[in-house]
Amino acid sequence: MARKRPKNGRWRLWQHALTESFAYSGIYSAFGVFERSVTLNLNGFTLDCDSLAVNSGSLVTTGIGALNITEFGVYVYEAATEKLRALENTMSFYRDTSEVSLLNRNAGVAPVRVSSELFQLLRLSKDVAEKSENAFNITLAPLIQLWRKAGNELPRPDEIKNALSLCEIENLILDEDSAYLCKKNCMIDLGGIGKGFAADICCGLYREMGVASAFVNLGGNVKTVGNRPDGKPWSVGIQHPDKPRGECFGAVMCSDLSVVTSGAYERFQIIGGEKFHHILDGKTGFPALSDLKSVTVISQSSALADALSTTAFVLGLKKGAELIRAFAETSAVFFSNDNKIFSVGTPNFIHVLTRQ
Ligand code: ADP
Ligand code: MG
Repeated sequence: MARKRPKNGRWRLWQHALTESFAYSGIYSAFGVFERSVTLNLNGFTLDCDSLAVNSGSLVTTGIGALNITEFGVYVYEAATEKLRALENTMSFYRDTSEVSLLNRNAGVAPVRVSSELFQLLRLSKDVAEKSENAFNITLAPLIQLWRKAGNELPRPDEIKNALSLCEIENLILDEDSAYLCKKNCMIDLGGIGKGFAADICCGLYREMGVASAFVNLGGNVKTVGNRPDGKPWSVGIQHPDKPRGECFGAVMCSDLSVVTSGAYERFQIIGGEKFHHILDGKTGFPALSDLKSVTVISQSSALADALSTTAFVLGLKKGAELIRAFAETSAVFFSNDNKIFSVGTPNFIHVLTRQ
């Protein structure tokens, strides 16, 4: 594998020649080994919130002594399901009864007392906004809604301008246990961070319940607990942005780590024959014109990895790499528009696992 050190030496940014990459296969099929004994599949479990689409996942339990493994598995599964539903009731943009909706409805009216979980998430969102010159911005909701409702026509410039005038993170004020959107019609949308946060909570719950080994996949947000039951680290595949789902260009070996990818290739709409993806640039009001096809962030915190992958995508390779370096024990793999792969601080990253 050819590795080239950057000229300025400021980043440990390595370039891997894509010509040396081979289609990866087989990371996930490794789970077949465990399926026979203790894996519970959460496949098909879909929560109705777009920003918290829990559409697949699996749980492996080990080391639980005398307990019946199936009963224990079902017990853990049910607890996790309940917790994820509760989180959706907190974070969903679309549920009238969620804390987020309450906060949005009270924009310009009054502060709202929020749960400690939501408060923590809002704090982290503001922190990432601050460190990224607002490339990550949960108050982009009015703009996100404008694009979601676009249909067959691009939003008009005056509509974009109007939406952008509401999208300032400074309008979100946090105080002890309350949050306040201080301007009327401001709104927040946690689509860029919510799934990661849910993965953290889910894994925390597993640990509390004595699960020694787990692999959680919430719509592409992966977080692992411990090692695999055979003691080896989990390997998490990174989707190749141009290849069918399941084909990876590499993998990250990890235990107790989260691996989250953001990219333009999966969620987009077509307007006038042109593709418009779902990660927006608050400076232009348009989908981010990134020089990247995808960014994968590896960190202990899945919420942070989720937020940073969205942000680094908006910022592009150079600034995105700088952002990752600003966070301790966080690393990333970038897949550029010209099909080059770069990594920042990723000792666990394996470019190609299996040659076909
Ligand atoms: P996915 O949900 O597909 O995994 P991301 O984690 O990258 O993708 O989040 C994209 C979602 O985040 C969008 O659907 C939208 O709800 C929200 N979003 C879009 N642009 C931004 C941004 N610049 N900052 C924060 N959130 C954003
Ligand atoms: Mg994200």
